[in-house]
Amino acid sequence: MNRHLVRNIILILIVIGLAFACGPNLFYRNSGTSESIGTQSNGSIRNAYQIKYKTSNSRYFSFISYYLIGTGYVHSKLYYTLIDSYNECETACPGIKFRIMECSLKEGGKTLIHRTHRNGLSVDFMVPKVKNQKQVKSYDRIGLWHYLLNFDPTGRLKINHKVSIDFETMGKHILALDNAARKNGLAISKVIFKIDLKDDFFKTKSGKEIKRRGIYFARNLSKPIDIVHDDHYHIDFKIIN
Ligand SMILES: [Zn+2]
Repeated sequence: MNRHLVRNIILILIVIGLAFACGPNLFYRNSGTSESIGTQSNGSIRNAYQIKYKTSNSRYFSFISYYLIGTGYVHSKLYYTLIDSYNECETACPGIKFRIMECSLKEGGKTLIHRTHRNGLSVDFMVPKVKNQKQVKSYDRIGLWHYLLNFDPTGRLKINHKVSIDFETMGKHILALDNAARKNGLAISKVIFKIDLKDDFFKTKSGKEIKRRGIYFARNLSKPIDIVHDDHYHIDFKIIN
């Protein structure tokens, strides 16, 4: 066989392999209601909903994570909570584009990089970033690599000190999530965010309102968990009714 033919056969096999791997996540249809079994760290989910890849002001952060790995699934109540929260952000945070990071697998259970996220009731949200009072989106487009970004204790991006976490917008988004969760029979049970960033976060107007509402932020985190929760905030939800 000549080299071109071999190369073309390999390319075709790769395309077929990708189509098989992505197919179930490309053509998934949401219907009915979901059932979460067990806990975030030892559980699963039945009839999960696949979150929207994109809304007018939000989008999932990674094509690979969504279509290939298939980590864009949540409980149906959380699906509607996410939609409602971003609707509220259209007026609470006009012009801001948000990014959702990993959720759960279609059947739940263990994922590649998370200890929890197993029952469709956990979502990672990318921190919004700002430079000279304007949103910076260039670092939002690096997909799974975003999990490797590091921020200093004041929220400045280590590889570019001019860019920092927009704590106020992050707070407004969490308030919108809290409102939407209540509407959809859920509540925020825990937010995980790097311990030494919390003082700056709670200084903001929305941070103070979050404190007033009693939304729980993890107070002690083991070092391996703490150091990775600067580029995103992880939120666990619980079903109320
Ligand atoms: Zn997480």
